[in-house]
Amino acid sequence: MAMKVPLLDLKRQYAALKDELNAALLRVAASTQYILGPEVEALEKEIAPMCGAAHAVGVTSGSDALIVALMALGVGAGDEVVTTPYTFFATAGAIVRLGAKPVFVEIEANSYNIDAARLEAAITPRTKAILPVHLFGRLAAMEPIMDLARAKGLPVIEDAAQAIGSTDARGRRAGGIGTIGCFSFFPSKNLGAMGDGGLVTTSDAALAETMRMLRGHGAKPKYYHAKVGGNFRLDPMQAAVLRVKLPHLEAWHEGRRANADRYRRLFASAPTRVAENVSLPEPGDGRHIYNQFILRCSRRDALRNHLTERGVGTEIYYPVPLHLQECFADLGHKKGDFPVSEAAAEKTLALPIFPELTDAEAAYVVEAISDFYK
Ligand SMILES: *Cc1c(COP(=O)(O)O)cnc(C)c1O
Repeated sequence: MAMKVPLLDLKRQYAALKDELNAALLRVAASTQYILGPEVEALEKEIAPMCGAAHAVGVTSGSDALIVALMALGVGAGDEVVTTPYTFFATAGAIVRLGAKPVFVEIEANSYNIDAARLEAAITPRTKAILPVHLFGRLAAMEPIMDLARAKGLPVIEDAAQAIGSTDARGRRAGGIGTIGCFSFFPSKNLGAMGDGGLVTTSDAALAETMRMLRGHGAKPKYYHAKVGGNFRLDPMQAAVLRVKLPHLEAWHEGRRANADRYRRLFASAPTRVAENVSLPEPGDGRHIYNQFILRCSRRDALRNHLTERGVGTEIYYPVPLHLQECFADLGHKKGDFPVSEAAAEKTLALPIFPELTDAEAAYVVEAISDFYK
């Protein structure tokens, strides 16, 4: 029987929380407090512990969270920031926008995260920060990354846009391990706003204060500018929406994890030819929150077309690794520089994993994949 299984269905989440969400939006409308104010402050207090940090500062987006973090650490022209080429564009885009240079380090094939063993070789006297990404909801290897950062005296910015609430084996939370954590509330993240939103976290009070200033054009007090910042303020409507969703986040993470387990069971009982062509994401030794469930598969593009025909939504995260992006041509990279990242870009495919996905839908997805590898 034909079915439609979208990659992400936010209608189900909205239906479940409609009255509360609508009330929150109307509350802000009636308050006429449209810039920062109590909703943003309350969200910052409620969310900081979930990110393992003492301080949280709401900003316009995950992209701007990265900009604010880099600005707060004084990253600018002539500096280098070590990061991964296999991530959403914003990670490296933020570095370049500040006039600095992204220095890419190859990823690990199994976690898709930066390979900590190759980090040290990328560090030069111009390195100003290390910027690992916790891709798809799984933590990068923070232990060796932090050890190296300490040895070199370098700050670490965690791009935790896809990883709010994920932990390492010791239970330390994404965004609470490095110097600064950056989060996104883009609607497809595990905690999504009704538009753009983001957050920076830190346990360093002075850095928190700097980032608060930078979010409002570096002013303190108003109209006295000690630094050049920008308008990076989180919208209180979005803060109010996020406060409604926050108490449900743990259950949503568990829903995604249950879906991942369900896929594992379904794939385990699929014909052996499927296992020959498809490998499932490794959960890692901490808590994976499955912002995405990523298959590595043969004939990926043909499989994707087949799934589209069957009504199954998928996505490719990401088809072009950052070292091969046209806008970064002047970094001088070429195909073959980061073969593990390039292979990931050619072979991976995201399946629907949103918390409300049903048994029947997951079974339909795996059946459609089994049919393709006949
Ligand atoms: C989503 C995302 C961002 C950017 O967040 P926006 O809120 O969309 O600006 C940055 N880095 C990663 C890894 C992301 O997934």
